[in-house]
Amino acid sequence: MRVLVYDTHSYDRTFLDAANGGRHQLEYTTAQLDAQTAALAQGYDAVCLFVNDEGSAAVMERLAAGGVRMIAQRSTGFNNLDLAAAAARGITSMRVGYYSPYAVAEFAVGLLQTLNRRIHRAYNRTREFNFRLAGLLGHDIRGRTVGVVGTGKIGAIFARIMHGFGCPTLAYDVRENPECIELGVQYVPLEELLRRSDIISLHVPLMPQTQHLIRAETLALMKTGVMIINTSRGGLIDTEALIAALQRGQVAAVGLDVYEEEEGKFFRDLSDQVMDDEVLARLMTFPNVLLTSHQAFFTHEAMTTIAETTIANLTDFEEGRENENLLRAG
Ligand code: NAD
Repeated sequence: MRVLVYDTHSYDRTFLDAANGGRHQLEYTTAQLDAQTAALAQGYDAVCLFVNDEGSAAVMERLAAGGVRMIAQRSTGFNNLDLAAAAARGITSMRVGYYSPYAVAEFAVGLLQTLNRRIHRAYNRTREFNFRLAGLLGHDIRGRTVGVVGTGKIGAIFARIMHGFGCPTLAYDVRENPECIELGVQYVPLEELLRRSDIISLHVPLMPQTQHLIRAETLALMKTGVMIINTSRGGLIDTEALIAALQRGQVAAVGLDVYEEEEGKFFRDLSDQVMDDEVLARLMTFPNVLLTSHQAFFTHEAMTTIAETTIANLTDFEEGRENENLLRAG
């Protein structure tokens, strides 16, 4: 099939070309998909998208008019796609349902430990031969109560790692995971988790029910000194409310791999431009905020599986086979 791969970086090309082995005709663009760039897909059978490509109804309309019949989303999260609009225009959507959940869970623990022991600050200090310890005091992680919001593939691994640290672990999910129960994780209502946890890590998908799960009212329930880690989706947190909670000292540290306004910024080098996002600029002034640009998934193992599954999805679609990665509206 002729496939246009949007929002391409050199590493996407390396892994996709290796997995493809010449099977499909892959062409690459650095453009992100939106209502304007949808025209680039004219004459292609499929488009391959990433998390910040726009899959709105208007975009689906244009893709379908250009002959596109399939979307191969090269991520697990697919909140950027209007699945109903795609289906209504005869476009099949598929994703990568599973790839190393360890990559994301381990990264969340990395953010947690970096913030807790101020490793990001120590790195900068020692580069300038400042070997003082004042300001770098952390806590033992052992014994601290961890709250895991969402115990699917990633959240369950995160819970297992924190169990290994010796942390009592609370969880909230619409569905209890037997693996977590066996581990001794205690499922509690969200409100109770927010009240009791010293460290809260978010692993639920972004959907209307989870949009701004962390907002002024839910932040107000948390302990003073809480640490929040978000490697899931930026829209789970109302960033302005989070900034207010950081300002009043209620939240002691925040690790973010995602940001609600990351489209058009993350995965780009904007270092020679004036930052026009005041909220992001404010967030970066806090020494106890660690922001990374959606890199939790980014390991060799994950990239290999993402590429291989994306190529398999394209082949299954072409040959009329359904697989578990098919996305259905509703
Ligand atoms: P998953 O589907 O295995 O788990 C999600 C869990 O959330 C499930 O247990 C589900 O029951 C629960 N859930 C769904 N709706 C809920 C609600 N309203 N309230 C409470 N719980 C709810 O997904 P996963 O593979 O563990 O991934 C989790 C999220 O991580 C993805 O949705 C994606 O947004 C994000 N992610 C981020 C990166 C990154 O690089 N930062 C990479 C991969 C995934």
